[in-house]
Amino acid sequence: MSERSSAAGSPPRAASPAPSVPAALATAIDEVARVGRLLVSLDFDGTLAPFDVDPARSRMLPDSAAAVRRLAALADTTVALVSGRSLASLAEAAGASQPLVDPGAATPAPPGLPLGVVLVGSHGLEARWADGSLDPVVLSDAEARALRELDARLTRLAEEPGAAGAGGSGATTGAWVERKPASVSLHTRTVADAEVASGLEAAARAAAEGLPGVEILPGKRVVELTVRRGDKGRALDLLRAREHADAVFSIGDDLTDERSFVRLRPDRGDIGVHVGPGPTAAQFRVGTIEQVSAVLARLADSRRTSAPAACPCHA
Ligand SMILES: [Mg+2]
Repeated sequence: MSERSSAAGSPPRAASPAPSVPAALATAIDEVARVGRLLVSLDFDGTLAPFDVDPARSRMLPDSAAAVRRLAALADTTVALVSGRSLASLAEAAGASQPLVDPGAATPAPPGLPLGVVLVGSHGLEARWADGSLDPVVLSDAEARALRELDARLTRLAEEPGAAGAGGSGATTGAWVERKPASVSLHTRTVADAEVASGLEAAARAAAEGLPGVEILPGKRVVELTVRRGDKGRALDLLRAREHADAVFSIGDDLTDERSFVRLRPDRGDIGVHVGPGPTAAQFRVGTIEQVSAVLARLADSRRTSAPAACPCHA
């Protein structure tokens, strides 16, 4: 939609005012690009894709999508999208059900991702692995009952007078409820009045009261109530072990990404990058999602030129 992507075909360093990668981060990227097996763990919303009032419309920035595709095509490199979205929503938004496109194609690629990209949804509770196999969420009867009750409570909150915000009317201008396999969330990003939004968030947290086993996952303008705790940190540990990764590159913008960042081992070459302002356990920070595109392009370029040319196991 915007300017034509320069991700394929020609070196992108000419006249375009592309966002730069901080020097210290560029150096660290070039180092991690040389490891034997690399895991690239990527948050989706606010990292690869800009926020949209309707999450169903969120799509990756074209330059980020192109870099992710190039990374996924490299030997000994696993790319995983690790999101709080449900697996189904993540796959839809990432276009991850589309077939693999030629990574060397000179024309701008379509916005989808290859099937070999691992998708981890619900903060690690469900996954689609690189071979296409699925690990779904299976709730106990008690968990399913609690989830139904939470859904009813948050739905009532979202329908309260005032929840739609000043002048708001309709689903995309007020608080709204997102339903996932093990949780329900109240989103307040689209509530116009900040005080109303924080009041709703407090009420959403209180909605967990009296329901044993329910946990609260606060986020940016969202309160998620879950009957089974997902944890991006545990997801990262699982991915690292499953993929036999020698090092991990992890990037994300949300509070839940901090659980991943604290599991990183910078002494072994892992890299964590936080997107945006605010405190973080990550070693590095970028300001915008356009910079994320530049960081991923740097990683793809560096790994393509410095990693072992081909996986010996496939030779
Ligand atoms: Mg995010």
